[in-house]
Amino acid sequence: MASGCSLVWIGALLLGLGASPARAFQFQHHGYEEMVRALFAVQSQCSYVTRLYSIGRSVEGRHLYVLEFSDNPGIHEPLEPEFKYVGNMHGNEVLGRELLIFLSQFLCEEYRAGNQRVTALIHNTRIHILPSMNPDGYEVAARQGPELNGYLVGRGNSRDVDLNRNFPDLNGLMYYYEKSNGKNHHLPLPDNWEVQVEPETLAVIKWMQNYNFVLSANLHGGAVVANYPFDKSREARVRGKTIYSATPDDKIFQKLAKTYSYAHGWMHKGFNCGDYFEEGITNGASWYSLTKGMQDFNYLYTNCFEITLELSCDKFPPASVLPREWLANREALVSYMEQVHHGIKGMVYDDNNNPIGNAAISVASISHDITSGVDGDYFRLLLPGTYTVTTSAPGYQPSTRTVTVGPAEATQLHFYLKTEPKGTNLNVKVPQGKKSPSPPAKGPPANLGPR
Ligand SMILES: [Zn+2]
Repeated sequence: MASGCSLVWIGALLLGLGASPARAFQFQHHGYEEMVRALFAVQSQCSYVTRLYSIGRSVEGRHLYVLEFSDNPGIHEPLEPEFKYVGNMHGNEVLGRELLIFLSQFLCEEYRAGNQRVTALIHNTRIHILPSMNPDGYEVAARQGPELNGYLVGRGNSRDVDLNRNFPDLNGLMYYYEKSNGKNHHLPLPDNWEVQVEPETLAVIKWMQNYNFVLSANLHGGAVVANYPFDKSREARVRGKTIYSATPDDKIFQKLAKTYSYAHGWMHKGFNCGDYFEEGITNGASWYSLTKGMQDFNYLYTNCFEITLELSCDKFPPASVLPREWLANREALVSYMEQVHHGIKGMVYDDNNNPIGNAAISVASISHDITSGVDGDYFRLLLPGTYTVTTSAPGYQPSTRTVTVGPAEATQLHFYLKTEPKGTNLNVKVPQGKKSPSPPAKGPPANLGPR
């Protein structure tokens, strides 16, 4: 890919860097083999703080490689949050894939150069980067080339399934539960879900099950806006009007989206690609409703808050614009990762200081619980303010504390739960069967916009 490739020197101008020397980045599109080679190169250059692993294979057998950055790669350290970036879910939306490869190279080089901000990020965060969730679709789109790429060629996987319409629909189940127990976190998956989703989706869901992700972004193209959940409308469109569908964490999601849009070169200005989005952000459903998307699934099935970033009008831009795009997104990509360190975090212990996993952390005024991980640690993103927080787990007495969250790093708040005296629990224990009620009728046909 020598043609259209440009070499740009990146000085240590931004990001509060020290006096690290200028380095060369190769700005080019990366086919599968080139992407794999680039990721292995970063892994070998920064072997002490990286790990390269595969979460599975695409339909055509390509690996879904993830590059992890951490001061202890391969290990979850209690109280150190897990973050993820996912790119190229739509095979023909390629900017996210390239930005994540550049980000990997950048983190490695800046770490080696002693950049304090990058070093702090890697030491305090476990970062997982999946540059391409749809490597098969990419190859189809790349064969067409940047100039000739049609709007939908290579969007789906090699069976032409749109992966952002392929996750189990938990929104319907959430509406159903609203009439009974109100539960809207860690909702159960439908029977036989494994055979109802594509291999790429299956791999990503298993990945979510194996890591207690706290914050995430999914990189797309075809517009320039930071899109936050819910993506799916509560009701079908009324006379063509779309309807804002807020999560209980709407204010936090708006702030997360603005973190990206304002740190981006021009996203926050709002006028892009013939559309206007105030401050460069939008609720998904208020733009257009989509069903079975990945970001709603993150919120309803895991502890992870995910937004969807639309990063370019042109889904497959020429390589010549990659340097400019990298500079427009670099600060935003780093600032967004740093958001994982806000709110509250802590440990949940029993009487004997043993960690309690899967304890529910409930914040009064926000009807969406998150849970502690297997090590007993939890992370709850919150805006600055004072909150009443209750932690509960089966067999223990709930514990309630009041906490004030500032604008800086997460406030630590630990919980010690006393064992419940025998015979006092009047709650009827509901068996945790895998069966879930079938959600109501399907929504409108999938809209094929950028997301
Ligand atoms: Zn997309």
